[in-house]
Amino acid sequence: MLPSLFISHGSPMLAMRPSPARDFLAGLGSQLPRPKGIVVASGHWETERPVVSGVATNDTIHDFYGFPPALYAIRYPAPGSPELAKRIAALLRQSGLTVEVDHGRGLDHGAWVPLSLMYPGHDIPVLQLALQSRLGPPHHLQLGRAIAALREQDVLVIGSGSFTHNLARPRAPDQSAPPPPDIVAFADWMHASLTGQRVDDLLDYRRKAPYAALQHPSEEHLLPLFVALGAAGEAAHATRLHASTTWGTLRMDAYRFDA
Ligand code: ZN
Repeated sequence: MLPSLFISHGSPMLAMRPSPARDFLAGLGSQLPRPKGIVVASGHWETERPVVSGVATNDTIHDFYGFPPALYAIRYPAPGSPELAKRIAALLRQSGLTVEVDHGRGLDHGAWVPLSLMYPGHDIPVLQLALQSRLGPPHHLQLGRAIAALREQDVLVIGSGSFTHNLARPRAPDQSAPPPPDIVAFADWMHASLTGQRVDDLLDYRRKAPYAALQHPSEEHLLPLFVALGAAGEAAHATRLHASTTWGTLRMDAYRFDA
């Protein structure tokens, strides 16, 4: 059966510039059973209440500024699936959540950049599920658990964020520079909690993890991890698929979650 995934999408330049994380994502799709559909919870779509996208064909949203023209020329015209959107909406309602279907929204770069590496053929239907950052980790675990049944229908649930994400920190001059000790301490704590199935600690990571607020001044790039964790069910176990750092600040770690 398909796992659910948390991946770090880093800078939009991930689509173009060589890096260990790019190589990892480029090899990831072919290692998994081919999904019939993909649902991405991205750190770049936040709404007041749960929303799922239900378009027929996805537009490519270039939601970033100041990058090379070639990046704006990339398109990822994957089909959507109004039918799968309806199924997801029904699952969320069964879990007591309100949900709307958005019939206009395409894919933001948190979705299309990694998918362009994982599934370059853009021939698998893709939907996005919005985040509600003000509701924190427990809500996003609930969102994921609400759609856990999708894995039995060969739908791949992906949380796309960043294992650390403080864009105010000065970048190292070298893309492959090692991370400072506080980033290592945070990532190590997260890794031990994920692989130790310490879900209660993870839900309280902002108080318990070292330097948590420094790594995530706002939570939207870590909340996708809770959707992915939830989507593997209550006994989810985590396996690290990748760990690297870009520019000394962004941890690009990725995990798979299996029931
Ligand atoms: Zn991002």
